[in-house]
Amino acid sequence: MKTATEILDAYERLGWKNNDPMAQMLQLRRDAPAALADLVRQALDRPPKHATFIDAALDLMDDTAYVATVREVWRRGADSELARGILDSAAVQHPEAFAPEWERLLTAVQDDDGGPEYAADLAWRALDDATLHGWLRRLDEDLSEGGPGHARAVALLRSRRPQAVYAAWRRLFPEAGPDAASWLHQAGYTEHEGALRALHGEQPLHIGFSDAQRKSMLAQQPAWRREVQRAHPTWNPESTDGVQARMGGTSAGRCGLCHGPLHRLLAIQDPAAAGIDSPSAIEFATCLSCQGWETDGALLFRHAEDGAPQTHPSQERDAPLTPDFVANPLQDADVTLFKAPARWHWQDWGESNGRQNLSRVGGAPSWVQSADYPACPDCGKDMPLAMQLDSGLPQAEGGEWLWGSGGCNYTFWCAACRVSGHLWQCT
Ligand SMILES: [Zn+2]
Ligand SMILES: [Zn+2]
Repeated sequence: MKTATEILDAYERLGWKNNDPMAQMLQLRRDAPAALADLVRQALDRPPKHATFIDAALDLMDDTAYVATVREVWRRGADSELARGILDSAAVQHPEAFAPEWERLLTAVQDDDGGPEYAADLAWRALDDATLHGWLRRLDEDLSEGGPGHARAVALLRSRRPQAVYAAWRRLFPEAGPDAASWLHQAGYTEHEGALRALHGEQPLHIGFSDAQRKSMLAQQPAWRREVQRAHPTWNPESTDGVQARMGGTSAGRCGLCHGPLHRLLAIQDPAAAGIDSPSAIEFATCLSCQGWETDGALLFRHAEDGAPQTHPSQERDAPLTPDFVANPLQDADVTLFKAPARWHWQDWGESNGRQNLSRVGGAPSWVQSADYPACPDCGKDMPLAMQLDSGLPQAEGGEWLWGSGGCNYTFWCAACRVSGHLWQCT
C-alpha cells in the first residue's frame, strides 16, 4: 500500500501515465479508510490538477470525515481549483458547512473573476431562520446584477422556504414571463393563482437494483468504478426493508407514435409509500424508441385506476411512424426503493461523474441541463418530478441503455389527472 504522501508524490511525478492513483486511493481506503481524509488534506496543500481520484476519495469518505474536511476547506477559503470543487460538493452534500458565514458566501459568489463559484445555489437551502429573515427585510435594496442585493435575493429564491422563495421571486421578477418561470423552476417551484407549489419532494428513495441487474451494470464498468459503486451508500441499502417495485420488460400499453409495445420503467403497487401522490398502483412506462427522438417535449400518458399507462390522446397517431431504431426493453427485475443517508438526498449530475447512483424516486432532480418541468396536457399545471433514471440501465437482450449520449431521464406526475410525462436530457 502507498501512503497518502506517496500517492501524491507519484501523481505529481507521473500524472496518469504508468501510474494508477485511482487504484492506489482505493487500496488506501481498503487498508486504512481514515487515511482518505489525510489524502485530501495533503492534496489541498499541493493541489493537483485533474485529480478525479481525490473527488472519488471524498465520495467514499464516511460522513464524519467528510463534514470535518469540508468545514476545514471553508475555513481556509477556496484558494485552488481543488478547494473550489470540494466546496461545490459541500453545497450539494452538506450545505450546513457554510454556516454561520452566509455573508461570506454571498461575497464569494459575487466575485465572478475566476473566484469561487461553488454550486452555491444549492447551499442556500441550509440558511438559518435569523439570516433568512434579516435578508428578507433587505429585499428592497438595489437589485442590480452583480451587486449584493441581487445575490441576496437569489439566495432567498434558492432557500427552499416557500415564503422567502415567493417574496424574492416577485422582487426579482415583477413581471411574469419565461425568465421568471424558468428561475422558479430552477428553484423547484411553480406558481399557480398567486400560490407556490413545490415541484419536487425533499426525501428521495434510491433504486436498489437486483443482483442480476447489478451484475450486468458492473460488468460494463472499469475495475475502479466497480469498487467505488460497491462501496457507495447510494448503491447499497443498509437494511433489507424498503418499498418493492418492478422494473423493465414491456407494458400492456402501446406507443401512440410507433404503435410498438411500451417499455416499463417502474411499477409500484404502493406509490404513496414512495412519496408519489396516488391512492392506487402506478406503472410508469415509455417508448424508448420514440421518447426524445420523435417528440420535442415529454412523452405523455394517462393512467387507468390500476396504474396502466395509455398514450395521451394528443400524441396518438393514426398511422404509425417508423422510429430510427427499435429499442429493447430494460431488463425485467424486482427492485427495492431505499433511504440513503441524508448526505445523498441531493445529488448533482456532473458531480456524481458515474460514481453515485442517480436513479431515484422522489426528491430533487439532478438536472443535466436547466430545470424543465413539463405542463400537464390535461390541466395545464406544471407536473412535479416523480422519478429519475440514470443511464447505464441493463436491457433485456444485454447491453446498457443510454438516455441520448448518456444523460438522465425524468418522470413527472400530475396526481389530479393521473397523467405522467417523461423526458431526458444529456450533454
Ligand atoms: Zn414509439
Ligand atoms: Zn393535470
